[in-house]
Amino acid sequence: MLSAVVDLLCCPVCRAPFECADRTLWCTGGHSFDISKQGYVSLLGGGGAVFVRTPPRCSVPEQDS
Ligand SMILES: [Zn+2]
Repeated sequence: MLSAVVDLLCCPVCRAPFECADRTLWCTGGHSFDISKQGYVSLLGGGGAVFVRTPPRCSVPEQDS
C-alpha cells in the first residue's frame, strides 16, 4: 500500500529517496517520518516534524556549501 508509492516520494529535507520500515519512512540521509495508524505520513518540515537519526559519533555533512 504505502510501499507502492514510497518510490515516488523523496525526503523534503535532503531530497533523498525513502525506504519503508515498519511504521517509519527513512530517507538515506537519515531523516525519519512516522507513519500514522491511519496509514498516512506527514512530510511537513519545520518544527518538530522531522527527526534526524544521527548516532552521537556520526559526523553530519556540512550544509554550508
Ligand atoms: Zn532526508
